[in-house]
Amino acid sequence: MGYDITTNAAARMALLEDYFLEQPVNARPGDTRRATATTPGTPVNLGVVDHIRRSVYDLEQHTRAAAPDAGPLPAQAAAVYDWCMQHTEHAPETVQRRRDVLIYQQELEHAIRLGETKVVRRHRCPGCGTVGLHWRQSVGKAVCCNRRCRTPDGLASTWSLSRLATEYIADQEKRRRRAT
Ligand SMILES: [Zn+2]
Repeated sequence: MGYDITTNAAARMALLEDYFLEQPVNARPGDTRRATATTPGTPVNLGVVDHIRRSVYDLEQHTRAAAPDAGPLPAQAAAVYDWCMQHTEHAPETVQRRRDVLIYQQELEHAIRLGETKVVRRHRCPGCGTVGLHWRQSVGKAVCCNRRCRTPDGLASTWSLSRLATEYIADQEKRRRRAT
């Protein structure tokens, strides 16, 4: 299948759990003062807990809509991607496409949470097609650096991760079609 979105999303989800849920909230990724899971009273980063829960919930909703008898969720949050794939592999094309967009979008969201804001740079701007997007945390969107790529109000174009994921999956599909 080429680029494996499931593996990447799951790996980053696992990293999130690893970095933020077992460490004091003031620790940063890469911090060597690692707390162990057994440290009593280790505070957890509630923002990340919430983010992980929401990610799992969205994927669960999508899966159950297509496969009502999918059974219980796996115990590990990161395993939800394989679970979703398993139960939607024979679903209609539109369901699978939506699933791929959702999983890829989550991979991007996890990456941003982990501080890897450069992930948006590998995407072309949906407006002008050039490479040169960068992440703007204050608006929670990717911004195009092309001075000629503007909104009708004259502002720089901004793109949600959902939009970038939709474009990316559509592009992957086109490539696959051309290859066969
Ligand atoms: Zn642009």
